[in-house]
Amino acid sequence: MHPQNELDAAARLLGELEASLIVLDPQGYITGWNAGAEKLFGYEAAEILGQHILLLYADENEDDAELFNSVFALGHGTVEVRRRRKNGEIFWARIQLILVRDEAGRPERLIGFIHDISEQIADREHAHLLSNVFEHTPDAIVITDADRQIIDVNPAFLSISGFSREDSTLRVPGFLQHPEMGSHIDASLAATGHWEGELWELRADGTRYPVWLTLSAVYGQHGQLRNYFAVFSDLSESKAAEEQIHRLAYYDSLTNMPNRSMLFTLLEQALSEARRQRNTGAVLCFNLVGFKAINDSFGHRGGDLLLVEMAQRIRSCLREEDVLARFGGDEFYVGLFAISERIDAALVARRILAQVTRPFELERQEIMVEAHIGITVYPDDGRDADRLISDAAVAMHRAKQSAQPFLFYSAEMNRRSLARIKLAADLHHALERDELRLYYQPQASPRDGSIVAAEALIRWEHPQRGLIGPGEFIPFAEENGLIGLIGDWVIKEACRQLAAWRQAGLRLPRIAVNLSARQFQPGLADRLLAVLAQYDLPPALLELEITETLLMQGDESMSQILDELHGAGFSLALDDFGTGYSNLAYLLTFPIDYLKIDQRFVRGLPDDTHNAAIVRAIFGIAEHLGLSLIAEGVEVEAEAAFLSELDCHLLQGYYFARPMPADAFARLLRDSERIGALSKNNPG
Ligand code: C2E
Ligand code: CA
Ligand code: CA
Repeated sequence: MHPQNELDAAARLLGELEASLIVLDPQGYITGWNAGAEKLFGYEAAEILGQHILLLYADENEDDAELFNSVFALGHGTVEVRRRRKNGEIFWARIQLILVRDEAGRPERLIGFIHDISEQIADREHAHLLSNVFEHTPDAIVITDADRQIIDVNPAFLSISGFSREDSTLRVPGFLQHPEMGSHIDASLAATGHWEGELWELRADGTRYPVWLTLSAVYGQHGQLRNYFAVFSDLSESKAAEEQIHRLAYYDSLTNMPNRSMLFTLLEQALSEARRQRNTGAVLCFNLVGFKAINDSFGHRGGDLLLVEMAQRIRSCLREEDVLARFGGDEFYVGLFAISERIDAALVARRILAQVTRPFELERQEIMVEAHIGITVYPDDGRDADRLISDAAVAMHRAKQSAQPFLFYSAEMNRRSLARIKLAADLHHALERDELRLYYQPQASPRDGSIVAAEALIRWEHPQRGLIGPGEFIPFAEENGLIGLIGDWVIKEACRQLAAWRQAGLRLPRIAVNLSARQFQPGLADRLLAVLAQYDLPPALLELEITETLLMQGDESMSQILDELHGAGFSLALDDFGTGYSNLAYLLTFPIDYLKIDQRFVRGLPDDTHNAAIVRAIFGIAEHLGLSLIAEGVEVEAEAAFLSELDCHLLQGYYFARPMPADAFARLLRDSERIGALSKNNPG
């Protein structure tokens, strides 16, 4: 049985009309539905009666409280809202609701009239858009009546011409009264309703200025001339702007050096010259190491200052006819056009490197930078600018990887780059094919040589290429986002391994895992705790190694995440300490437990007096701040002895053991428990 359609008499009458009519009970259930509503919404009365009115809402969160308050208080109310038809289509509706009370004055029903106002809304929005355009376009707009008297102008016109609105509306605009142009413009307007061209306009102060003007006649429905409509821009500004634009387009705004597109142009020119003269040329790609860290530590202003000075220093090594261009960031290119053989390019590269590796002064601190250069030679390596530039970049990357100051390009390098692309693709499968491994490197106490902890270091057992180190694939993973999955795997695997060792009755070392910046998302502590709980391990067994750069990018959320980790009982170690131009203040703000002294400061201790001084200073800071130190990359006895004397908390390095697979590490743990100490180089 269908619910009763209770349109009452008056409403039924209305129901015959086009209007859409709905009746609701006071709880919002539909009790009446006329033909208009059926047409508007697409539901037949039989299927909609008894349903709740919310079914027709387009926005779940629509706030209808105000409407119903008004209806119940005043007896009626009107809203403009979005509604949904049966076919899913959404439209704008104006709804008028009327409350009908029973004889006792209790609300009995609501009658709603619904009008589709989508078109009105669209018109209104369209008009709103047009008036916005009129108000905000940078071009001047003038509208006149058929007698050429101005009836409206936009703000851009006022600011360009200097006239006030009152002055303007009394005028006939210049372009409609130029005696010499008049006939010409009129002829065009009469023929096509349109004219476009450059001419001079008058400002309020009497000066003239060039404009580019588009003039249109507007006709009414019956073809009678109604208005003229003119849009123009002030060319005097754009003429100056043109030069500016040229500079912006072809020069780097920071260093005033040519940019990428200018370099291409200049190189192509120089190359066609070289082709004719059978000259040799070269392209050098220059890049800094750790520029990001400088930006992080000194802010972008500091970074910019460094780049400007860098550019000047490079320039000072070049001849007049050579080109120096900046591609953005810390990437510079040099075009050498007056060299007679390859080796000349190497000489210039050496000269540049000598210049840029001299200390810089930034905020009264001395900064040293490292740089690498890749070189391509014309015509040996390529004949067009494109090739030379992109292969110089390849050579630069190769120089960086192999820690050489500069390298000439060779075809083999590109083959290797292809191999790298392939590797990045393979990495996607490494996880699902279970090709990742964790190696463990012991961290020993200098007191008795006992293994207190281990750093987990990831390896990739590639089916064709064998064991691949993290330096080769972690950067890819960071670029393509896989690092999140890999990072999760590392945590889980470390926990699984700890649990397995416990099962085997071993004394559990603390495991340090390396975290990438990308892994620092809110909720990290909870996620880690969940993994630990799964293996029934305490958080104290997990140490998280983070880098200075991570702290430097530190905003509020970072410090909150670190506090959460610390609060949850994880220990935090600051990796590669001393390599990041760091601001030591953050050591006070963040809850760090350990500093890991980077290998570059450990190397050569104690004979390297520079390193010895730095390491002593680091110990001073650490003691002051109550931090423990871990030294990494300890390779020889002398280093170990020096660090032990300074009371270093833990030592890690080839001197004790190399990173090794889990089973080898377990044997080592067992042996060291038996003999009580790990004292000398253990080939792993
Ligand atoms: P790191 O955290 O600074 O790790 C120490 C690196 O120094 C390791 O290289 C280790 O094998 C090496 N090393 C240890 N002792 C000595 C020594 O006495 N002499 C020398 N010359 N080197 C030593 P590895 O394993 O190639 O790792 C390189 C970097 O890859 C690590 O640097 C770390 O930043 C990153 N990494 C390793 N595993 C992971 C991981 O699971 N996740 C993330 N995000 N990064 C990882
Ligand atoms: Ca580390
Ligand atoms: Ca390190």
